Amino acid sequence: NGSVRVNMSNVDSPLQIFVRAKKKINDIFVEIDDYVKDAVTFMHAVSGENGIATPQDVANVESYVSKVQAIREVLKRDHMKVAFFGRTSNGKSTVINAMLHDKILPSGIGHTTNCFLQVEGSDTDEAFLRTEGSEEKLNVQSVSQLGHALCASRLQECSLVHVYWPRELCALLRDDVVLVDSPGVDVTPNLDEWIDKYCLDADVFVLVANAESTLMVTEKNFFHKVSTKISQPNIFILNNRWDASASEPEYLDQVRTQHANRCVDFLSRELRVCTPKEAEERIFFISAKEALLTRLRDRHQPVSSPTLADGHQVRYFEFVDFERKFEECISQSAVRTKFAQHSRRGRNIAADVMAALELVYNTATDQKSAKVEKQRVLHEQLSAIEEQLTTITRQMKDKISRMVESVEHKVSLTL
Ligand code: GDP
Repeated sequence: NGSVRVNMSNVDSPLQIFVRAKKKINDIFVEIDDYVKDAVTFMHAVSGENGIATPQDVANVESYVSKVQAIREVLKRDHMKVAFFGRTSNGKSTVINAMLHDKILPSGIGHTTNCFLQVEGSDTDEAFLRTEGSEEKLNVQSVSQLGHALCASRLQECSLVHVYWPRELCALLRDDVVLVDSPGVDVTPNLDEWIDKYCLDADVFVLVANAESTLMVTEKNFFHKVSTKISQPNIFILNNRWDASASEPEYLDQVRTQHANRCVDFLSRELRVCTPKEAEERIFFISAKEALLTRLRDRHQPVSSPTLADGHQVRYFEFVDFERKFEECISQSAVRTKFAQHSRRGRNIAADVMAALELVYNTATDQKSAKVEKQRVLHEQLSAIEEQLTTITRQMKDKISRMVESVEHKVSLTL
């Protein structure tokens, strides 16, 4: 499909915090799985007629096999999720494409996304679409085809389309980042439904704002709703289209300060999701269009507009800076929210199975000491019997010898 296979080295990426943690916790669950299965084998060996373990004990331990299996399935699919919001045409799709180093999502006039698009890694070499609730895979070869496929399927505003793209083509996808593009916050009255359906599990939210205007009430409202449903959401604000500032360099600093102050105010005072100092680290002035062009050029892909406005390098560095801070934030947040819960459950399962085994062990010990006691009593009884027998035998002997003596005596008299 014309895409160049890139081999971006990403061992230094902050995303590796998540990738390594995921590998580790998966390995731990393989061990827990083995442990539980061993416990089941053991339980079977000590159950049955006259066995120590009851059928309930066996069933109890067996139930953990499927529990561990279910957690392992979830763990395999765990990913980091970032959702992009903002008004139509602010450049959400372009930001996503720039982050993926490729034109994956259609953008521009005529391609207003009216559904949610979730871009995620595909394990095969193919790119394909799948709408929520359907198993049908629609192969896509190119961006324009993707655009057509989206238009043709007449999707509802609130529906979700999965876009699977070969992992090996994008570093973010390879490291388990899932990116969600949304319809513009200006086109829907159903913000609540959106949030409930697509946002509750997002690790990071990115507001793509337009640096040529101020933050809109609709954009603000959306995040007010988000912060009532999610405690302390991680929000980044991208003031996109900052290339427009190149045409008015005399106002650049002034406009930037004004926008930055408003954004800091919004995050720290209005939403109260972070301190003003933290907020400063969450606000960036970028040009997604330029960043995408730069990256396409680096990959020797044909690009339409050859010249970039003054200051494009500075804007590009700021975009890279955003990506770094974003990667740190999303991987830490995902590890905390997703894996903390799994490791707690893993610990509980190990403790439960241990308790079940201990119960059986205790029963076995009890039975053993009961047997020893029984033997002791039996032994005492035997000794008593033995003693009695000895006495009886002695008495009998005496009696017999006396009888023999008397018989002998009588016989001698008669002779
Ligand atoms: P979306 O509706 O928010 O997904 O917006 P798109 O990504 O489709 O962008 C809408 C239009 O704005 C497209 O024609 C983009 O090329 C253009 N655009 C996006 N980012 C920038 C930018 O940083 N600077 C300029 N000048 N145009 C941009």
